Amino acid sequence: MNQVKAVFQGDFDLLENIKISPLSRGYTFSDGIYEVVPFHNNIPIAFDEHIIRFKKSADAMNIVFDESKVIDEMSQLIDMCDGNNGYVYYQISRGVDEIRSHIHNSNIEPEYFGYSLNYDFEDKKFKVLLCEDIRWGRCDIKSTSLLANTLMMNNAALKGCNEIIMHKDGIITEAGASNVFFIIDNTICTPSLNNNILPGITRDMSIKIFRKNNINVFEDNFSIEQLLSASKVWLTSSTKGMAEVTDVYSENHSIESENTLFNKCEDIFRTAFFND
Ligand code: PLP
Repeated sequence: MNQVKAVFQGDFDLLENIKISPLSRGYTFSDGIYEVVPFHNNIPIAFDEHIIRFKKSADAMNIVFDESKVIDEMSQLIDMCDGNNGYVYYQISRGVDEIRSHIHNSNIEPEYFGYSLNYDFEDKKFKVLLCEDIRWGRCDIKSTSLLANTLMMNNAALKGCNEIIMHKDGIITEAGASNVFFIIDNTICTPSLNNNILPGITRDMSIKIFRKNNINVFEDNFSIEQLLSASKVWLTSSTKGMAEVTDVYSENHSIESENTLFNKCEDIFRTAFFND
C-alpha cells in the first residue's frame, strides 16, 4: 500500500505523504464528488463516460472544475501505476473553509485528489443482504458522502455478507457500491434509472452490449418479491465488472448455481470489456 502513486492539488507524490487540511469541506461535510476509472493493459475503460458523469455530478453540486487537468492527472496516474490493470480513484471536493460553516465562501477553490491502484479484476462472488434504502434523495450524484452505504454495508458484513441490495418503498434500487441485474423467466431485468440510483457506467455498457447481442434487457421498477423470484442475480461496477451473487439473504430465497443466459452474458461482457 505504501507505494501508491497519488496527486493532490497538482503535486504528484506517494499517497502516504499527502496531507489535507481539517477544514477541507471534503473532511468536514463530505462535500465532494468522485469517480473510479478502471484500466486494463494501461488503457482506461469508458474514460469519456466517466468524465461526462463527473461533470454531471459537479453541475448538480455547483462545483466548477478544470476538466483537462483531471483527464491529464488521471492519465498520468495510470501511467505511473506499477501494474497494467487497476483503477484510478479521483475526487474533487469543494475546497477549504476558513472556519467550518455550512455555507461556503463563493470564491472557494476546489481540491483535486487522486491515486491509482494495481487491481486484479478477478471474479468475485457476492453474498448480499436485502435492506431498506435509507440514503438521501440524490443518489444519482456520485458524491463522496456515502455514510448510509457504509453503515448498511458494515452491518451486512457483520452478518457475513459482502454487499447489500436496497429497496425503497418496496422497489429495488441498487446495491451499496454497484448496480443490480437479475433474470426472471429467462429475461434480464434491472431497475430503471431515477434519483435513487447511480447511473453506473458498467450498467449502461452492459445494457448496450447485451442489446447489441440481441439479448433483451428490461429496465423497470421491480419489487422485492420479483427480485426474490429471480433465478440469477448479479452486480455491476467499474471494479467488480459483472459479479455473480450467490446468496440473497432474505426469507427462503435460493438462486441457481448454473444459468445459461447468465453465462452467455458473462462471455459477452468479458469480450467487450477485456477482450478475453
Ligand atoms: N451504484 C453505486 C452506489 C456505486 O457506488 C457504484 C460504483 O461505485 C455503482 C452503482 C456502479 O457504477 P460504475 O459502474 O460506474 O462503477
